[in-house]
Amino acid sequence: MKSIRFVLAVFLAAPLRAQNGPLDAFKGNIAAIHTRNRAAYLSHYLHTPALARVGPDGLRQGYDSFAAGAGASWPDTLVATQLRIVPVTPDVAYGVYRYRVVDSSGSVRGVSERVFVRTRDGWKVAVTTAFPTPDAAPPPVAFVGATLVDGTGATPVRDAVVVLRDGRIGCAGPRTRCAIPGDADTVHAEGKWITPGLIDTHVHFSQTGWVDGRPDALDLRDRYPYDQVEASLQARPERFFRSYMCSGVTSVFDVGGYPWTLELQQRTARATTAPRVMAAGSLLSTIDHWLNLPDQRQFIYMSDEATVRRAVQAHKAWGAAAIKVWYIMPPQPPDTARVSALVHAAGDEARKVGLPLIVHATGLWEAKDALRAGARVLVHSVWSAPVDSEFIDLARRSGAIYVPTLTVLDGYSQVAARRFERDHQPLACVDPTTRAKALATDTVALAQRPSDAALRDRAARTSTSRVNGAANLKRVFEAGIPVALGTDAGNPLTLHGASVFMELEAMEASGLSARDVLVAATRNAARAVGLDSTGTLTPGAVADLLVLDADPLADVRHFREIALVVRRGEVYTRHELEY
Ligand SMILES: [Zn+2]
Repeated sequence: MKSIRFVLAVFLAAPLRAQNGPLDAFKGNIAAIHTRNRAAYLSHYLHTPALARVGPDGLRQGYDSFAAGAGASWPDTLVATQLRIVPVTPDVAYGVYRYRVVDSSGSVRGVSERVFVRTRDGWKVAVTTAFPTPDAAPPPVAFVGATLVDGTGATPVRDAVVVLRDGRIGCAGPRTRCAIPGDADTVHAEGKWITPGLIDTHVHFSQTGWVDGRPDALDLRDRYPYDQVEASLQARPERFFRSYMCSGVTSVFDVGGYPWTLELQQRTARATTAPRVMAAGSLLSTIDHWLNLPDQRQFIYMSDEATVRRAVQAHKAWGAAAIKVWYIMPPQPPDTARVSALVHAAGDEARKVGLPLIVHATGLWEAKDALRAGARVLVHSVWSAPVDSEFIDLARRSGAIYVPTLTVLDGYSQVAARRFERDHQPLACVDPTTRAKALATDTVALAQRPSDAALRDRAARTSTSRVNGAANLKRVFEAGIPVALGTDAGNPLTLHGASVFMELEAMEASGLSARDVLVAATRNAARAVGLDSTGTLTPGAVADLLVLDADPLADVRHFREIALVVRRGEVYTRHELEY
């Protein structure tokens, strides 16, 4: 009854207020931000010293100081939802909306209020507020009419209803089973497909997606000093948060980097403006790799057993989600017994402190040894040779998850050949700085370009690895070993977020069905990341999902056709997330 009376009050009052009511003023105020029209924007505010602005830092007053700062910068996008006007008296109205702003530093959301007063010149803003609410759960929403592909591998449900509440899935199923709640906003999604958000189990926020983050591949440190490159990655990981969200990736696992990457876990645990990040921190390495900063290490050398056990305990204390080992047999003489004992010590200590062991091992011998040491996830394909029955038995017995990471070598090949294959990854989701560097690949350090003969050699080696990688994925999958999606994003020309599509397509090209690839990218990836609460669209799961314009079960290429991205219940259009 109350709401009906409210609607009537607005309706009846409208003709009395001429054409220009407070709602029109409110919409005009927001439209001026959209059109970046400073004069129009300022015309909505009371031109007096009383004009009040309130934010988390308290009250500020006065039109002049407000006008001085207005229009200095505009957001890339401003999305206003749940806009409401409450008439208070004939001359005063209260307005409120939820805002979402996306700019180069990522995305911010919150609640903004206005108090409008009627003046001789129309309705003007006397009080304006804005309070960020980064972790608050968005209002309930129901997606109606789409085909539901829930990530479990179950048969798709046509004409489904998916209800999101408090940042989680309230109900997901046929219309007959999931009622549309009266308090939920309805999104009509007929002719669309709904899937869980993609989960990338293999990324590196300590790497840029270009060679400036990997001077061991191509040394450009004279132009891109490594300490500056790393400082900028630490200062602004948000640019890649946006790239992931834009690409439909709602959770990622950083499986090796500088210690600050561990902080991203807390920061994104309840975020609606960033993917959920899990992180392993510095990685333990069987070789003493030089690529570290003067004051911090991303590679901890496994020099002896005591060092290994101390490093594992330290990771536990720092809050790492896993122990990552780089298992690379050092050059001659290959002291396999000594190196193997150290990897086993890492596995043993990880078990003791209760952390999963994650291993980079592209050699068959090392991969098998990693499984014996207790590896829970293998983050690379076996490239050296076809996997054998001993490998399959070990993987099956240990319950390990196999992450093929098929396409990362292509990026290194493109850098070597100085030819960026720009059509492989959608650049709309890539921040302008990274995009410019990727596009500069073709002309960078041409004097250091390998000879054509060296490039041909290199291409042949890469091709052997790729052929083995693809065949091994099929063999492992058919043996019933769970497979999960991982890109190795951050490596040269494996771009954060955008690389996910070519990896999905490479998995399908290896002989997996689109349905199997989808499960690998959602439910199985959630298990690999250690997040049971996401990866499927089942009641209680975190409301991370995608609305697609085309059927992902017909072809995983259709994951490129993202209409909406939802993170913890906050609904974004793909368009607003693009750079
Ligand atoms: Zn990696």
